[in-house]
Amino acid sequence: MCCRCTQVLKSAPISVPCSSRHILCQTCCVEMRAMKEYTCPQCDEEFDIEDDWVPVVDETRK
Ligand SMILES: [Zn+2]
Ligand SMILES: [Zn+2]
Repeated sequence: MCCRCTQVLKSAPISVPCSSRHILCQTCCVEMRAMKEYTCPQCDEEFDIEDDWVPVVDETRK
C-alpha cells in the first residue's frame, strides 16, 4: 500500500530515500517529484537526493 494516497499499489512500488524506505506508488512518486515535495508522507523525514528514489525490484523475475 502506498503511504501517501493509501491506495493499493497497481504498479511497481517505489521506495523513498527516508530511513525506513517507505513505499509509494508510481503516481505519487511522479507527483511528489513534480512538486519538489521531498518529504516522506509516512514519517515526515526530509530528503533531497532526487536520484535516490529506487524502484523496488521484484527479485524473482530476474
Ligand atoms: Zn500513492
Ligand atoms: Zn518514511
